[in-house]
Amino acid sequence: MNETMDLKAKLGVDVFKPGNAAHIKIRPGKERDPRLQKMTMICPAGLYSVSEQGETSLTVDGCLECGTCRLVCGTDVLEWAYPEGGAGVQFRFG
Ligand code: SF4
Repeated sequence: MNETMDLKAKLGVDVFKPGNAAHIKIRPGKERDPRLQKMTMICPAGLYSVSEQGETSLTVDGCLECGTCRLVCGTDVLEWAYPEGGAGVQFRFG
């Protein structure tokens, strides 16, 4: 591994083990919350997207467990927890 790797390449060497259930969930009725829409630009793993109808969705596969979405959106919008033991991200490059 060299010093010139870009972020995408560095993230590509991480390993993600899926859990039995999503560890982050959008609370029902909060899909149009403007704080969630900001996450499409903020989430470092690019896991948030907004539909043409303006509803935000999330996939947790590839989550870096950084907690940024929890801080930006709050627990009234997101149900947030770390993945169950043995699941989640394993960093390979810092
Ligand atoms: S914890 Fe970090 S990487 Fe995971 S969904 Fe939230 S902002 Fe994205």
